[in-house]
Amino acid sequence: GVDANPSAGQPLLRIEGVAKTFGSFRAVDGVSLDIRAGEFFALLGPSGCGKTTLLRMLAGFEAPDEGRILLAGKDIAQALPHERPINMMFQNYALFPHLSVRDNIAFGLKRANMARADVATRVAEMVALVKLEGLEKRKPDQLSGGQRQRVALARALARRPQLLLLDEPLAALDKKLRESTQVELMELQRRLGMTFIIVTHDQEEAMTMADRIGVMKSGKLAQVAAPRELYEAPRSRWIAEFVGDINLFDAETKLRDGHRLVVGTPDAGTLVVAEPGQPFAEARFSVAIRPEKVKLSRRGPASEAGHETAINRLDGVIADICYLGGTTTYRVKLDTGGTVQASVANSARLDVDAYSLNQHVVAWFTPDDCVVLPS
Ligand code: ATP
Repeated sequence: GVDANPSAGQPLLRIEGVAKTFGSFRAVDGVSLDIRAGEFFALLGPSGCGKTTLLRMLAGFEAPDEGRILLAGKDIAQALPHERPINMMFQNYALFPHLSVRDNIAFGLKRANMARADVATRVAEMVALVKLEGLEKRKPDQLSGGQRQRVALARALARRPQLLLLDEPLAALDKKLRESTQVELMELQRRLGMTFIIVTHDQEEAMTMADRIGVMKSGKLAQVAAPRELYEAPRSRWIAEFVGDINLFDAETKLRDGHRLVVGTPDAGTLVVAEPGQPFAEARFSVAIRPEKVKLSRRGPASEAGHETAINRLDGVIADICYLGGTTTYRVKLDTGGTVQASVANSARLDVDAYSLNQHVVAWFTPDDCVVLPS
């Protein structure tokens, strides 16, 4: 097998210009990426963007047409899947239906010629790790979806791979179970000090679990960043829309005022926005504001609100209300013609008025709440 012991500072995994073509279709189109040891990395993207294909190349089930994959500095292109210190957990779990939980978990260990007594010890360890005690003799069809997911995880972890690849591991679980399993996976990864690469099309899942997220679009990496940076500073309009909810306004510069841009928008009139960090040459672009950055207050005397000093103030009426428990999302139809979404934290006090349908309101936000994005 390939022995991999990354020295300090060296990435565990280096992906260099990797591409894969099926017929004339480039499913993975020149991906370069470093994964650090101990990192929880998420590959996020819409269906068909090439996530699984990239993962399969890392695992060795697919050979890249171009590029190199280095594990701890060594090219692993020629290594067979079972020779790599990498394991993959498949989307459908791929459990052996005729084998018990115990034998499913033991399968890879036996194939690697581990001594019988050691196999038993390791399987018991894994069963405890994923909390399957008492279910060792069951067959997969006698387990719930969540229990099957744990068996698959235990089997993938049993050989203690340096790198674990997880392809949509939680897709088959219902919302509550998925959320609790997300936390368990994170704890497990931290406790074992292992490196995880997870594939998901669920942006909340990626944000919850990952140290860094690589967003894929049409076979390419569109942005690689920590969850917060991805959310607060998306590199493009497409990423801003893919990751969370966002208000977007087409805009063009009217004038520059110090570090502020005064911009004209067809939908929201004139806005003042912070100048983007990078030099910015485009005349036409988008102004993006997350719904939770948009404040609301009643129209009329501005005694309650603080909106009287806000630089961006948009008059409108409440057109839609979506109560979500901790927050309520209001869609405000602006007098200027567009709409803006505001996500407002709810008070626990029922006597504190929320806004009602057709109520006249002011939606307001600061220049720093706005992100300027290329169109
Ligand atoms: P999903 O979230 O739906 O699983 P994905 O991002 O994982 O999507 P891939 O499974 O990597 O996407 O597939 C990327 C593209 O390559 C798709 O358009 C798919 O149809 C195509 N593709 C994948 N495997 C093959 C194959 N063996 N032969 C031909 N085309 C393939």
